[in-house]
Amino acid sequence: MTVTSVNPAHPSEVIGTFEEATARDVDAAVRRAAAAQREWARVPVPARAERIAAVGAELERRKGELASLVAREAGKVLIEAGGDVQEAIDMAAFVAGQGRAAWGTVHPSELGDKLAFTTRQPVGVVGMITPWNFPIAIPSWKCFPALLAGNGMVLKPSEHAPACAAAFVEACIAGGIPGDLIQVVHGFAEPAQALTVHPGVRAVSFTGSVTTGRRVAAAAMETGPRLVSLELGGKNAMVVLEDADLELAVDGALFGAFGTAGQRCTSTSRLIAHPAVVDELVERITARAAALRLGDPTDPTTDVGPVITRESGERIASISGAPLRDIDGGTYVEPTVVRVDRDDRRACEELFGPVLSVLVAADVHDAVELVNSAEYGLSAAVYTRDINRALRAVAEIDTGIVYVNAPTIGAEIHLPFGGTKHTGNGYREAGTRGLEQFSETKTVYIDYSGRLQRAQIDNRSPVSGS
Ligand code: NDP
Repeated sequence: MTVTSVNPAHPSEVIGTFEEATARDVDAAVRRAAAAQREWARVPVPARAERIAAVGAELERRKGELASLVAREAGKVLIEAGGDVQEAIDMAAFVAGQGRAAWGTVHPSELGDKLAFTTRQPVGVVGMITPWNFPIAIPSWKCFPALLAGNGMVLKPSEHAPACAAAFVEACIAGGIPGDLIQVVHGFAEPAQALTVHPGVRAVSFTGSVTTGRRVAAAAMETGPRLVSLELGGKNAMVVLEDADLELAVDGALFGAFGTAGQRCTSTSRLIAHPAVVDELVERITARAAALRLGDPTDPTTDVGPVITRESGERIASISGAPLRDIDGGTYVEPTVVRVDRDDRRACEELFGPVLSVLVAADVHDAVELVNSAEYGLSAAVYTRDINRALRAVAEIDTGIVYVNAPTIGAEIHLPFGGTKHTGNGYREAGTRGLEQFSETKTVYIDYSGRLQRAQIDNRSPVSGS
């Protein structure tokens, strides 16, 4: 079987065709990565970092070509497609810098003449399963820290963005990463499942939907244990209190809800507004949404591109009632603002499309309760001019990321990224915590006293009879 990716704006245009990997191909890829990893683990960390920096330079050199590929394969408008590639370039620079940063911690020992410290060791081969919506950035978030930590990897990208993954890996190899160290297997669920349970895979790093993430985690642990990190969906809310700068909130809602056609894990999909401002907000956001230009993402005047597939558009429309448009065969969901009740499924489910569900909250406490009522906990935003209420909301909102007076999208790569509740299982990508899912901590004790010293023994009380 083959995987054929098409341009969602012109589905008759084929972007790439790839052989689907069988379980046997996955096995061969894991073995190659494992053999290369043994060599790579002996390369000093700063030297690994230099190669990652060189990959960053290679990505920079290919930025225009990669951004155009992201626009054509994932349907992201040009400035967002360029942003996707830029994140990978920034991540390379950040991770390369960590190659000369602290690699562990030194601790005082409770015994004399004894040194106690921690260091990191690679996990071995990491299986990576990625979604289509950040087709260069997400592989870079996983691969660069995994490489720095000394691992080999096998990447299974989404069936909707295989060409982007292949181009990313090609740039890594051109930048000096050994070819066998970074393997790609294309296909649908089958190679991903084979990767998840392969005995040579010590860690699985998954980004995608909750349903698939749960399956991956269960299979990986049943045949494990192994490290499993999950970055899953969101139902992100923007709270607008009565004292907020409404112009700023309207700008934020448009960018957060309709950017990337609402297909970001951090997209703003709920607007929770105070009764005093809700009517004006809905009116202004609806008017501005109607003026957004839908069309081919490679046209610089386009604001909103297509959704990834017709099926995805039909699902979004059937749940939300948002109108669908067909432009040159591509499926577009019209940016839509709907008022909903608290128990409406549009207030609870991730739609992954340009639909903003509006709810009313009596005050900041009610708003925070509504934010926290979602099963997900990725990102939230609070708009207010009152610093006390803003900070109270920051403290009480149960999400991994909170913005004040800025929309729910727009993470920066040097800060931890991830969510609480059903969004994840406690790991964070990016920032200095990005290394944690790809390395094991090793605790080292060095006793230079020349005699037996005993810890975990009560050295303070006299032993009876002695
Ligand atoms: P999916 O869960 O559908 O797919 C993610 C990956 O899993 C794809 O590579 C997919 O392959 C693969 N896959 C499918 N079935 C299986 C299986 N049974 N076992 C193992 N792997 C499998 O997500 P989407 O690609 O549609 O991405 C959208 C989702 O990703 C949204 O829920 C979004 O919120 C989330 N996301 C989360 C982020 C975060 O950091 N928290 C960031 C970006 C997106 P194939 O495509 O071939 O089916």
